[in-house]
Amino acid sequence: MSLFREAIDRIEGYVPGEQPQDSGWVKLNTNENPYPPSPRVVDAIKRAAEGRLNLYPDPLSKRFREVAAPLFGVDPDWILPANGSDENLTILVRSFADPGQTIRSPYPSYILYETLAGIQDARHERLSLEPDWSFSESAFSQAAESRLVFVPNPNSPSGNRWSDETILKLIPENGIFVLDEAYGDFCESPHHAELIRNTNSTRESAGRIVITRTLSKSYSLAGLRFGFAIARPELIAGMRKVKDSYNCNTLGLAAATAALEDQEWMQANVKKVQATRKRLSEALVKFGFDVVPSETNFVWATHPSRSHAEIFESLKARKILLRFMKFPNAFGESADETAGTFDGLRITVGTDAEIDRLISELETILA
Ligand SMILES: *Cc1c(COP(=O)(O)O)cnc(C)c1O
Repeated sequence: MSLFREAIDRIEGYVPGEQPQDSGWVKLNTNENPYPPSPRVVDAIKRAAEGRLNLYPDPLSKRFREVAAPLFGVDPDWILPANGSDENLTILVRSFADPGQTIRSPYPSYILYETLAGIQDARHERLSLEPDWSFSESAFSQAAESRLVFVPNPNSPSGNRWSDETILKLIPENGIFVLDEAYGDFCESPHHAELIRNTNSTRESAGRIVITRTLSKSYSLAGLRFGFAIARPELIAGMRKVKDSYNCNTLGLAAATAALEDQEWMQANVKKVQATRKRLSEALVKFGFDVVPSETNFVWATHPSRSHAEIFESLKARKILLRFMKFPNAFGESADETAGTFDGLRITVGTDAEIDRLISELETILA
């Protein structure tokens, strides 16, 4: 007999993308930024390391919140820092969903939301998407009745961004809406928490929206583990009761604060990624792929006649790592076992040199 809670035995556990530990890979599988973080970040870590590591960090991360808040036009009590954006997602589930209550998120999309719901023993239901990545009509009425809705915007693996109009229609009538903006900085016109600020049109629902952000992608700090949530102070205050007292460590706080202080560095890297993204997308179209217009640091590519699994394996044999993704029962109404499995290749935008390598290997493989 298992010693685990039934809910834990039932779930499979989230499987992150591969992190090969040997060198020589062109690694385009987990949406890391190919450029280094701001040199100010490294200086800040060195200074913090020579400081007072014998003491606990500031449990309220005051300094970080003071730097983050003005970037979004809010006050510091609207910000909750966390050990990676994924920790805030966990805090959200633990704060707002009792066992048995319903959490919904789109599908195909980020699968971690389903895992977190499973750990909490909450019900998870999928909001189904159409093959053009728009929401099915049924999604809106289902979302309305949820305790908690998670929507990454832009979405992964597709890279598309839904309009604010669509997003506002997905807010539950009596629950919390989490807008996961992990890729928010890569958009053509990035948002700055407009949906939760005090505007007439969204005022009522604004009190139920939580935005999550991460430093893993646009700030080139996936190894640091740092993210933050933005929401009305009442929501942040409640979530603070759920987090670990010292969820952000001294080095992480120093580094994250320095990273946000160097907006120019982040934005210069975003511009490079956007330019390479365009080049990559155009090359893939020339190879016959269908490519979803991306507002992120990756592109979703499907080929009408070639096996994605074979392309993935051939590239892997050449030490180029993409993410081959498979979504059973996609684009159908709910979990119909007979609905088809949808798969494709998610390709992180690397440096120009890395993308040139990919393009030349694809030329050989697809010839
Ligand atoms: C990368 C990613 C995250 C995780 O961010 P971390 O800060 O690295 O935990 C969350 N949501 C989505 C949609 C992501 O792609």
